[in-house]
Amino acid sequence: MTEILQVRGLVAGYGAAPVLRDIDLTVPTGSIVTVLGANGAGKTTLLRTLSGLLRPTAGQILLDGKDLRRVKVERLVRLGMAHVPEGRGVVAELTVDENLRLGGLWRNDVNAAVAEVYELFEPLAQRKRNAGHLLSGGERQMLAIGRALVARPRLLLLDEPSLGLAPKITAQIMALLQKLRTQTGLTVLLVEQNARSALSVADSGVVMSLGRIATATTAQELRNAYLGS
Ligand code: ATP
Repeated sequence: MTEILQVRGLVAGYGAAPVLRDIDLTVPTGSIVTVLGANGAGKTTLLRTLSGLLRPTAGQILLDGKDLRRVKVERLVRLGMAHVPEGRGVVAELTVDENLRLGGLWRNDVNAAVAEVYELFEPLAQRKRNAGHLLSGGERQMLAIGRALVARPRLLLLDEPSLGLAPKITAQIMALLQKLRTQTGLTVLLVEQNARSALSVADSGVVMSLGRIATATTAQELRNAYLGS
């Protein structure tokens, strides 16, 4: 199996003291890999570094074997990486349709890409003209994911999609990720504090603690170790 993403010896942070310390991570193409860990373990910082928002002070990030150090942030989307940040980043004043279009402003096939998102996310199709602030939490999460998909990524970085959502809605979002992976071959790096939900769809995972990877193994082993099932 080939790896879409390889991270080696990654160090990054916000000031003098690093938050991420010597992170190694491999994400096989077409897999769902989850990043678990307590509040403050460094999960969000890892995603922000992978998507170019934070500059690493050491280490390598390889996307399809290509070193991203010299790649500009705005190029990363075109190279196939999309980031759905924690808190979703939906523009409240814009409609669902306008929010989706933002995901692919530079594309000449943006109409087709938006139409595909409506096929995947039926509730969004029914609310095309609604403003972002009128959506439920689950719909807003769908919109944030949908907007990332309009860029037609091959690797989706997803930060805590379950945050603030009812268990039933979280389960729907997880099922959607699985469907996307099966139907389109999308690779997902899924940051979650909700281990039970994440491990219900992941193939493998890592547990972060104090900015390091404490454990890296299959989802089954993580389920056995953390959930007893
Ligand atoms: P959470 O689930 O709360 O988002 P996390 O595992 O994603 O937790 P991070 O948000 O990556 O953890 O935070 C890791 C560490 O980095 C914490 O000690 C946090 O205080 C620190 N940190 C996060 N953002 C900043 C920032 N903008 N400036 C300085 N320090 C930060």
